[in-house]
Amino acid sequence: MKEKIWLSSPHMGEKEMEYVQEAFATNWIAPLGPNVNGLEHDLEAFLGKKVHVAALSSGTAAIHLALVILGVKAGDEVICQSMTFSASANPIVYQGASPVFIDSEETTWNMSPEFLELAIQDRIKHGKKPKAIIVVHLYGMPARMNEIMAIARRYEIPVIEDAAEALGSTYKGQAVGTFGDIGILSFNGNKIITTSGGGALISANAEYVKQARFLATQARDHAPHYQHSHIGYNYRMSNVCAGIGRGQMEVLPNRVAQRRYNFDFYKKALADVKGIQFIADPGEEFYSNHWLSTILVDSNEFSIIDIQNALHEDNIDCRPLWKPMHLQPVFKSALYFGNGVSERLFNSGLCLPSGSNLTDGELNRVVSRIREVVNVKKSSKNIADNPISCVTFALISVLLSIIL
Ligand SMILES: *Cc1c(COP(=O)(O)O)cnc(C)c1O
Repeated sequence: MKEKIWLSSPHMGEKEMEYVQEAFATNWIAPLGPNVNGLEHDLEAFLGKKVHVAALSSGTAAIHLALVILGVKAGDEVICQSMTFSASANPIVYQGASPVFIDSEETTWNMSPEFLELAIQDRIKHGKKPKAIIVVHLYGMPARMNEIMAIARRYEIPVIEDAAEALGSTYKGQAVGTFGDIGILSFNGNKIITTSGGGALISANAEYVKQARFLATQARDHAPHYQHSHIGYNYRMSNVCAGIGRGQMEVLPNRVAQRRYNFDFYKKALADVKGIQFIADPGEEFYSNHWLSTILVDSNEFSIIDIQNALHEDNIDCRPLWKPMHLQPVFKSALYFGNGVSERLFNSGLCLPSGSNLTDGELNRVVSRIREVVNVKKSSKNIADNPISCVTFALISVLLSIIL
């Protein structure tokens, strides 16, 4: 068996162990401490635009706290991008609220501003004005934040930006996650940088971030004894994990560069293949970290299953695009506004190995395997198109089987 090529594996730099060892040496083995503060400062400096950051135990926890802070309660409705990982939507249900899913638009694969506005108008008409909007920067591609923020402001609905996949991406030169009222990041093992498990809540509103830290550490009131006026959570990041994060922050620009390199590599190497497409550059204001490199396969040319099987046979990891939430069994009763763009993307898309630690050799292995599928299809197609060669092919096959 050939060596495994992973979809997106952790990629440690030089300094992570030092920060972790420091945590051990000083016995800061707790969900707070100097590495947590340090990581928050590093992130604030990286994101710019005077945002505050609370380091948390996961991106999912960050979305949950964002909803709590924005006052989402049982019976409320929250708008959410349909094409995403389930963790964007699950916290809506933790709060007893209902998701309203919005389709993607073609250029960024993210929330369609058009259907967002239609959904808001419809829900207002039914006396159910949405309490928040969760927009996602899928695979690192920034959503159309100009349009989305304008709509959200017009209807006075707060925006949560799920930038779990998009640390290092910018829109009009500004870090994604800093446009909405609250942004969230993830440092799960498969993300662009990792703390093994972790996340962060971002906001320009210092009060929100203070509240996040308070709620994430069991909502303890100022009192000599344990006193609680709010329901709290155990969502703070561990100081050991934050040590990994501090090391990772030092190499983040390299990691972004490598992911973008992967995308360009695949795009160039498969440029001549009819039936394989890459997401087109939506414009110079969109700068994607290309967390995952994805392809769209034209089913008239060849099947996505064939490519998937061929890669798996060669011990190469790959994965379909996120299955839209409105098509998930668990959300089958949820409202959806759209016209099938996300469903079409899901049916024709594939994520290729995209780790920042991939070598050119490994990238070439992926490309040649895909090319084999494409060539087999092409030659069998040519044969099928040509009755004479079809007969010849059959004859040769029979002869070969006799000889062998
Ligand atoms: C990974 C991810 C999350 C959840 O982050 P965790 O840290 O794994 O909880 C949320 N949204 C999106 C889009 C993600 O990719």
